[in-house]
Amino acid sequence: MGVLSEGTALSWKEIASVSDVYRSYALDQLIRVFEKYKDQKGDSFQWGDELEFAMVRFDHSNKRVQLLLSGHEVLPPLKEMNETVEEDTHRIAWHPEACNYMVEGVPSQPYGYVSSYLNTVEANMALRRNQVQQILSKKSDCEFVLNLAAFPRYGHGQYIHPPEENGSDQSFYYPEILISPVHPRMKSVLLNINERRSLPAPVAIPIFRDSSTPKPFQDSPWKDKIDIQDDHIYLDGCLAGWGCCCLQVTFKAQSLSECLQVYDQLLPLTAIMLALSNACPIWRGYLTEMDSRYEAVFQAGDDRTPEERQRPTLNSRCAPTPFYLCDEHNHLNDVELDSKLTEFFYKIGMSPTLAHHFGHLFIRDPLVIIKENLYPTDDTTSYHFENLNSTVWHSLRFKPPPLDDGKMGWRVEFRPMDIQITDFENASLTVFMALLTRVILTFELDLTIPISQVNENITRAHHRDSVRQEKFHFRIADKISLLSINEIINGIGDFPGLVPLVQKYLDAMEDITSDTRCTIEKYLSLISKRAAGTLLTDASWIRQFVTTHPSYKQDSVVTDEIQHDLIWKIQQIANGHEACPQLIQSRMRTHTNLCPE
Ligand code: ADP
Ligand code: MG
Ligand code: MG
Ligand code: MG
Ligand code: MG
Ligand code: MG
Repeated sequence: MGVLSEGTALSWKEIASVSDVYRSYALDQLIRVFEKYKDQKGDSFQWGDELEFAMVRFDHSNKRVQLLLSGHEVLPPLKEMNETVEEDTHRIAWHPEACNYMVEGVPSQPYGYVSSYLNTVEANMALRRNQVQQILSKKSDCEFVLNLAAFPRYGHGQYIHPPEENGSDQSFYYPEILISPVHPRMKSVLLNINERRSLPAPVAIPIFRDSSTPKPFQDSPWKDKIDIQDDHIYLDGCLAGWGCCCLQVTFKAQSLSECLQVYDQLLPLTAIMLALSNACPIWRGYLTEMDSRYEAVFQAGDDRTPEERQRPTLNSRCAPTPFYLCDEHNHLNDVELDSKLTEFFYKIGMSPTLAHHFGHLFIRDPLVIIKENLYPTDDTTSYHFENLNSTVWHSLRFKPPPLDDGKMGWRVEFRPMDIQITDFENASLTVFMALLTRVILTFELDLTIPISQVNENITRAHHRDSVRQEKFHFRIADKISLLSINEIINGIGDFPGLVPLVQKYLDAMEDITSDTRCTIEKYLSLISKRAAGTLLTDASWIRQFVTTHPSYKQDSVVTDEIQHDLIWKIQQIANGHEACPQLIQSRMRTHTNLCPE
């Protein structure tokens, strides 16, 4: 969750009064970074994924499962456990996440280019779950760490352990106790978003209308507060989004210009991969028409004030990526947005398009300031810039090297994907993305389409069963057409499709062992079959589980009992105790038994 440093967080009032000063430090640091590294070349390809995990506690006798607020308990032993690990590839870096039932794990050393790394990703992901599970299993046999993009009844009834009255001044559904106490940054960011926007900002999600769903359906607590839309359920407060778990992948480029290219080509893929990774059809205990967490994140994290919301040129700081960065794609930046200092960035040597990107970043207020770090003590770090850059949560993040660590290189972080239930699926998406970056550069793919069309694609990617039901704007050579995910992934006409392009790239790769190739083919097969609709997305599978559950009443309600059975099933599948052929074909599985039956 961005830059972590110890100290006392300033209140929103205090931040507002030093915002300009803070930005001026950040600006100064960005200039230094740009001047120092703009011509750096020849960096090796490195990359890595981030997984956000959720901890849950089962109460089998009452057919209940709740979110377990244990982040503060598991993080110290996790850190200790990894300090003694000698081999780099087996060491995990653990981070606190926004909510205390979450933790984030990343490989402590980024992966390298060598093809054998591709064969270690899944094992590394399994190791991460295993480490947390070991700690949880020491004290209880009913506590588990899982990959859940959104907990189905998050915000509904008694969903937290230890139990807590729901609601607070800030939110009906998400009490402050959810926030991780591990680092002051978490609470500060979350409270400041709410304070800055100064109004409740409910997120409305259309309910999935089943035969016995009340007509109209009205979400009761909101009825007296605002004009609610019929047939929608409502979330409120930024924890609605921040409590979801995602899968992110970061790539280093050889140079600034290569990084800009990769960024621009990954931009149109954000919507495609969002659709392919859809994993959350249930919100606050109801089946809905929305299959991904992303919309909840970008609405719930929107800190714009009521006046700012009137301005069409000011987007949410969590909105989908707003600009291409290469000048040759500037004509595709067809959604006009505010920026400042653009002329200035231009004068110090940035291209006009890049100047616009940073100009847009600098309209944001800092959301967290650690008092002890307000004033830079010297000019060797880019702490203030990093802090500002990491509190804008677009679907891609452009990451310059830190001033004091040029080796980090120019990086792009790919951020839209929902986390998947199994290590196998997470590894499949991660390895596919890593290989796609190579394909983009090797075959000089041009996938760019106007930003307005990317935004439309993102909206569609959220829709129920978007992989099988929707069409997406997609460029093939000089023409942009509406294509299905199947056509984009598996090809149409002269366009081979993204999976066959990856295979063509692999065919030409010299240092790849047959073992690694075999693993990768299993991952590609998952992507290909999911795109073709012969395997389900996690969202479609979860939906199917609920609607065929014996106690489901065709009323859109996911009861405690259904949730219990669903999450238990997910636990069994994730830990290799049960197969799930609709999700993963059995010959694909790489078994990673973590827990005793
Ligand atoms: P953040 O939360 O800011 O995205 P994290 O430290 O949580 O940052 O995750 C960074 C990801 O980038 C990890 O997967 C890590 O392995 C990877 N990574 C670290 N260093 C590099 C690098 N130099 N180039 C590419 N990826 C890197
Ligand atoms: Mg995270
Ligand atoms: Mg992280
Ligand atoms: Mg971080
Ligand atoms: Mg997060
Ligand atoms: Mg990240």
